[in-house]
Amino acid sequence: MIESGNVDVLLSGGARVFLPSDIKTDLADQALMKDLGMPTTSFGKSKRNDDRNLILEAKADHGYELAFTKQQLAALDGNKILGLFANSGMADGIAYTACSKDNSCIEPSLRDMTIKALDVLSQDPDGFFLMIEGGQIDWAGHSNDAGTMLHELIKFDQAVQAVYDWVKDREDTLVIVTADHETGSFGLSYSRKNLPEGKFLDGDGMQGREYKPNFNFGPLATLDKLYAQSGTFYNMMSAVDSNWDFNGTTGQEWADVINQYSAIKVTAEQAEQIPQREVNEYQVPGHKYLDASEFPKIVDFKEFYVYGDELHGNLIGRTLAADQNVVWGTGTHTAAPVPVYAFGPMGVIKQFSTMQHHVDLANKMIAALIEP
Ligand SMILES: [Zn+2]
Repeated sequence: MIESGNVDVLLSGGARVFLPSDIKTDLADQALMKDLGMPTTSFGKSKRNDDRNLILEAKADHGYELAFTKQQLAALDGNKILGLFANSGMADGIAYTACSKDNSCIEPSLRDMTIKALDVLSQDPDGFFLMIEGGQIDWAGHSNDAGTMLHELIKFDQAVQAVYDWVKDREDTLVIVTADHETGSFGLSYSRKNLPEGKFLDGDGMQGREYKPNFNFGPLATLDKLYAQSGTFYNMMSAVDSNWDFNGTTGQEWADVINQYSAIKVTAEQAEQIPQREVNEYQVPGHKYLDASEFPKIVDFKEFYVYGDELHGNLIGRTLAADQNVVWGTGTHTAAPVPVYAFGPMGVIKQFSTMQHHVDLANKMIAALIEP
């Protein structure tokens, strides 16, 4: 991307694929990166298997200005910028909601990055293409973590709002909001657990009869409880065992941790399913994910739960699900149709209002950019 000469703005986590393989041990390289403003906390394990430092190359050979923090990003005024704000993934939605409340975020938000990208790219008289991803909505779907997903959706919504504020009075910009796929087979659903009490409502509509739904249709207050979740399932797993070695952990330990982070409470008995493990009957020696002889024990649709020990997180999801009025069917992606929202000149957006193959979205966008 950097060498192509076509990418003016690159903002994300993932510094580990830009830094040389020995960044953790090479003090000279570390000093160099520190001089460039990279926080020492970002010198994590590299994902490269060579000694190239793509951050240095971007700056020295291709004219990028660099940012590693929210403050540094705000201060940049060049027309080519590379921002890498975490060694791997950036802060999750719950952590971001927490730090934004007291203005203590070190990383920029998706909204901050969106506004900066629009500022830089809109200087180009030829126009621009910008792709913004709320990437961790997918991660929360994979781990069946509805509370984290809610915070990720809010984070994404704030970025969409920033785009909308920028384009709403223009006639020259096409905005497409969509997803590349659904993850987790998520749904809010009604159940036979916690049936609501009958009650008399204000007004005459019920003619004096009790309002008493047959099933638990999920009170709106459930969303407040999801919003109140103060850590992701990954945080909960690390709190149970920092090395993610869950052998011999008990329902009580899991319940204590869940109840510390979640407004929806579970009993030790309910949580007993979380540490359960079984023989991995789909073991593939040498496979990146399926090499293990043992897997967390998922009772239904287990074939669709593929990510090894991470699945203890999915089992937290299974334990909370009934009280969240939430269902999950898989730990991977589904082919469920996804919404496509289009905003912009009517002549251009009309064509998006149909069922279409995903590839056609790209083709239509390319055509709109070339022949507006
Ligand atoms: Zn995914």
